[in-house]
Amino acid sequence: MASTVTPELSIIVPVYNEAAGIEAFHSSLVAVIKDYKNYEIVYVNDGSSDDSLQKLQALAGPSRAVRIISLSRNFGKEIAVTAGIQLARGQAIMTLDADGQYPVELIPKFIEQWEQGSQIVIGMRQSNQKEGFIKRYGSKLFHYLINKYSDAHLVYGSTDYRLIDREVQQAFMRMPERNRTNRGVIDWLGFERSYVPFHAKAREHGEAAYSFKKLFKLAIDSVISLSSSPLYAAAYIGAVIVPFSILLGIFMAIEMAIGDPLNLNITGGGFVLDLELLLIGVLLLSQGIIGLYLSHIHAETQGRPLYVIDETKSIRTHG
Ligand code: UDP
Ligand code: MG
Repeated sequence: MASTVTPELSIIVPVYNEAAGIEAFHSSLVAVIKDYKNYEIVYVNDGSSDDSLQKLQALAGPSRAVRIISLSRNFGKEIAVTAGIQLARGQAIMTLDADGQYPVELIPKFIEQWEQGSQIVIGMRQSNQKEGFIKRYGSKLFHYLINKYSDAHLVYGSTDYRLIDREVQQAFMRMPERNRTNRGVIDWLGFERSYVPFHAKAREHGEAAYSFKKLFKLAIDSVISLSSSPLYAAAYIGAVIVPFSILLGIFMAIEMAIGDPLNLNITGGGFVLDLELLLIGVLLLSQGIIGLYLSHIHAETQGRPLYVIDETKSIRTHG
C-alpha cells in the first residue's frame, strides 16, 4: 500500500509513560483493526520520561500504518490528543487511551455507527468498580453543574473514547482556545451523535496519571471554558443585598420616626450596619458587572467560530 493513499481510519493514542503496557496494547489494537483496508495508528508521545518512545519506534518499524508524533515535553493528555486529531488523515478519527481501559474490541461498533451516519460516536462508561467515591460522585456533580450552567449538554458517563468524522475534525481545528478539554470542544460543536456503552477495565500497567488534583483542574477548566455563570455569582448576591439593605434602612427609619411602635430600639449603630450592608452589596454588584465584561472578553479570546456548518447536510450549489 503506497503511503500516498489516505487512510480511512485514524486511531489516535496519547502516550505518557506507558512503556510497561504499550506493546500489549498495540497488538490488541492491531488484532481488532487489521481487517480494515486502510488505517493509521497515530501515537502521540506526550513527553514520556520512560522508554515509551523507544518502544513505540520499535513497534512502528517499517510499517507505514504506524505514525509517531513525539511532543517536546509533557503537555498533558488534552493537548496530546488535540495534536493527534489535527494531524490525523483518516475519514474517521478515533481517540483512545493507551492503558487498556477502553476496550479495543468495541472499535468496530464505533465504525459501524459512523458508517450509518453518526458524525460523532461517543463511548459511554457504564461502571468502574475500582473508581473511588470522590471520583465517581465528583464526576456526577460535575456533569450536573455543567448541564445546569452552560449551553453544552454533557451526557453522564460520556468519555473521550470517541470517533469523529473528518468533517467534525475540520470544525475542531477551528477551535483555537488554549485551556481546553476535547470533550468540551466536541460537545460544543454539535453534529449527529450516537453512543456506544462500555465497561471500563482496570488500568493494566502503571499508575493513572490523573490524580484527584489533576481531575479537579480538568473539571474547573471545563466549567470555565463552557460557562461564564460563575462570573455572575457575585452579581446575583449583590443584586439581592442592595435592595434588601435599602428596604431595611427605610423600614428602620420609618419605624423609629413614628415612635418605635415595635420596640426595636434601633440605635445609630444599627443604621451604620445597614449602610455597610448596602455598600457590600454595591461592591458585589460592581464585581458582577466586571464579571459581565470579563465573560464577553472571555468569549472573544476563546476565538470560537460563530457557527459551524454541517456540509454533508447542506446544499451550497446545484450542478
Ligand atoms: N496521558 C498523556 N499525557 C499525560 C497524562 C496521560 O498523554 O500527561 C495519556 C496516558 O498515557 C493514557 C491517557 O492519557 O493513554 C489516559 O491517562 P490515564 O490513564 O493516566 O488517565 P485516566 O484513565 O485517569 O483518565
Ligand atoms: Mg486510564
